[in-house]
Amino acid sequence: MSWTPTYHKRNLGNLDDLAPNTKAQAMKWYQYCLDNKIDVLIYETIRTVAKQRENVKSGASETMKSYHLVGQALDFVPIKDGKPLWGKADYAKRPFLTAIEYAEKIGFESGYRWGWDAPHLQYNYKGYGTDKALTVAAATPINVMSKEEVLALQQNLSKLGLDTNGIDGIYGKGTTNAVMILQRRTELVIDGIAGKTTLDKIDQLLEKKSLVGTPGTFRVVTGTFGTPEAAEAAAKELGFNARKGAKDNRVYTGVFTSLESAEEARALINAKFGLNPKIKSYNESA
Ligand SMILES: [Zn+2]
Repeated sequence: MSWTPTYHKRNLGNLDDLAPNTKAQAMKWYQYCLDNKIDVLIYETIRTVAKQRENVKSGASETMKSYHLVGQALDFVPIKDGKPLWGKADYAKRPFLTAIEYAEKIGFESGYRWGWDAPHLQYNYKGYGTDKALTVAAATPINVMSKEEVLALQQNLSKLGLDTNGIDGIYGKGTTNAVMILQRRTELVIDGIAGKTTLDKIDQLLEKKSLVGTPGTFRVVTGTFGTPEAAEAAAKELGFNARKGAKDNRVYTGVFTSLESAEEARALINAKFGLNPKIKSYNESA
């Protein structure tokens, strides 16, 4: 069974307010907490100047140059049995200290180490106020599904004619793409996350034995890269496997079991390299 933190919705909402690179790292940290069933409440991320002024006045903060003002810090509290543990000593206990250690490993500075601000995690990035929208790194969506649930999802997506790039229980790029194709074609919000609405839609479609994608065997010809090595490197950069054709010297991206996934790969190649490779349908035995 999947496990969801007590304040999951609030956590996601607060994470959403962070500056882009800080958000990407903070989501990585939150995913780690989730995977290890470490229950936390992220109770504050971005802070207004007025609020900070109040904090300085009351002594809760020492400076007007808070990393919260620029979206580069979050405050969290350990949760046990649904209740927050506000004591400084609680942060020293496992698994919460493990969460702090992981945060440090991925680049956060911990207020717990300062000795006076245990909830505080700060992402310095390139200094105060440097994390702006111009330097966006995309955040990985939070996955609350167990490996078994991801496996079932991948099997269902395949039945609907979509390619998840393997049925392996890992919610990776291929599965995210397949979910996005499904969402686009069924007019749901396109976020690549298999939430309740998306899962319900999948159940409905399976019941009606509908196809969302076009099943078959497809490859994207990337021979336009000149050499097999260049094509292979390009395909890998986009998250696909390249392989050499049997009869000629051209290179294809990995075999796709859905036309839509092949189209997605072609679109990525087009966006990244300005090329428009052909999609070819073939059968494995030929
Ligand atoms: Zn803080």
